[in-house]
Amino acid sequence: MSLFKTEVRDTSTPLFRLEQEYLNTAKQDLHLQSNDNNKGYQLPCPWCGSSRGFLFVGRHGGLIFKCHAAGCETVASVSRVLGSVSRKLQNEFNEEKVARRIK
Ligand SMILES: [Zn+2]
Repeated sequence: MSLFKTEVRDTSTPLFRLEQEYLNTAKQDLHLQSNDNNKGYQLPCPWCGSSRGFLFVGRHGGLIFKCHAAGCETVASVSRVLGSVSRKLQNEFNEEKVARRIK
């Protein structure tokens, strides 16, 4: 059973590209696994450790983290996911977002 919506969303946004760049930097720390079909990822939840963490493309054209483990169900921005690895990386991401005028 796929937990992803079948709808393919537009990932040509500057936000998505920026998120990809930074997620790539932290790929090993986050244990990201690509999910090529929908341009998302599966990863262990940084908050509860469950293997049921996902990054999927949201309506805003960027990625959203959601944990599907009962009792956790954390929803978080890419910024917070990066912050779980490194506050420095999170700050750089946020600054770069402003520098590129990405909302
Ligand atoms: Zn979780």
